[in-house]
Amino acid sequence: MTMTTAVEKTNLLGMPKAKLEAFFESMGEKRFRATQVLQWMHQRGADDFDQMTNMSKALREKLKLVAEVRGPEVVYDETSKDGTRKWVMRMDSGNSVETVLIPDGERGTLCVSSQIGCSLDCTFCSTGKRGFNRNLTAAEIIGQVWVARKAFMPFEPNGDRPITNVVMMGMGEPLLNFDNVVDAMNLMMEDLAYGISKRRVTVSTSGVIPALDRLGEVSDVSLAISLHAPNDELRNQLVPLNRKYPIADLLAATRRYLSGLPDKRKATIEYTVIENMNDQPEHAHELAVVLRGLPCKINLIPFNPFPESDFRRPSMNATRRFQKILNEAGYITTIRTTRGDDIDAACGQLVGRVDDRTKRSQRYIPVQQMTP
Ligand code: SAH
Ligand code: SF4
Repeated sequence: MTMTTAVEKTNLLGMPKAKLEAFFESMGEKRFRATQVLQWMHQRGADDFDQMTNMSKALREKLKLVAEVRGPEVVYDETSKDGTRKWVMRMDSGNSVETVLIPDGERGTLCVSSQIGCSLDCTFCSTGKRGFNRNLTAAEIIGQVWVARKAFMPFEPNGDRPITNVVMMGMGEPLLNFDNVVDAMNLMMEDLAYGISKRRVTVSTSGVIPALDRLGEVSDVSLAISLHAPNDELRNQLVPLNRKYPIADLLAATRRYLSGLPDKRKATIEYTVIENMNDQPEHAHELAVVLRGLPCKINLIPFNPFPESDFRRPSMNATRRFQKILNEAGYITTIRTTRGDDIDAACGQLVGRVDDRTKRSQRYIPVQQMTP
């Protein structure tokens, strides 16, 4: 009887160029193999070493023994009436996350998840209400881009690019999964992989200041700050993390990050507008003062209701009134229109399936209807 020992294979999908080069070197192979494999995986969507025909059969066999290219499993893929497309992807642990592609003219913005659940428990966020399970690996994060891009293959060489922008605004707090998010974002920007400009890869954070400072040392992606309130008293209620990292400190860190970028760029200030919570004219006036001098544009997101929440979406009139005050104070302010309503793809409705390890919210049973 022959005994076979199962060897955990290295998944190459989440490795940025430098790590892949080191991997090939450790196998006694040439570094340039990394270039070939990156292009096969990310530009052509290959997940089988036998597709990689510019490598010898012997090398392919050698790779198969120790490595694999494994993306997430798609369990749901639907396109909304307005063109928004949503995937539910099952990860190794059996949990699932959601990824949304929002086409808008020439632009295609992919909203990517960084964690299964989220530990920060913002009161208006359905992801937060479902607790935290675990960080996604770099392969699982870039795997979402990989799946989305594969859906549009084969490409026309000079045709439209389906994904021009990536925002880390799906499930999870990206800066609490720092290394994996940085690796995945490097692959998004890597010319041999997705080649997306650093201006068009955006990390969104509720304000983990030490991690934001670290990000400034290793990356130059664009930044979105989830502010949601113009003063600490109100923000403490909406974003519990504010008790640790209050607004003044967060905005100072945002300034530091922007001044460290090689080009002139604005931060996006995200403000989820909630009826009778933070939608009053005095909030808009206070916000205009708080943000003075910060290079930014403001994105107002009308609250998207979900069953477990008592908050309500403000009227369009209230949101426009809020916007007008900010515009008059000199801020570029947009209102994010809800897309993909019919397939539950709106902001803050990305829930997937979270087996909550924190046991915070056992009463929140997933409401998502999933078709396998
Ligand atoms: N954790 C990160 C990124 C994911 S959330 C962050 O908080 O920035 C992406 C954006 O959606 C955040 O600005 C978040 O505040 C917003 N959001 C969450 N729930 C929402 C809801 N129910 N309605 C509208 N926006 C919501
Ligand atoms: Fe986490 Fe962001 Fe949701 Fe807050 S808004 S609970 S940080 S995902």
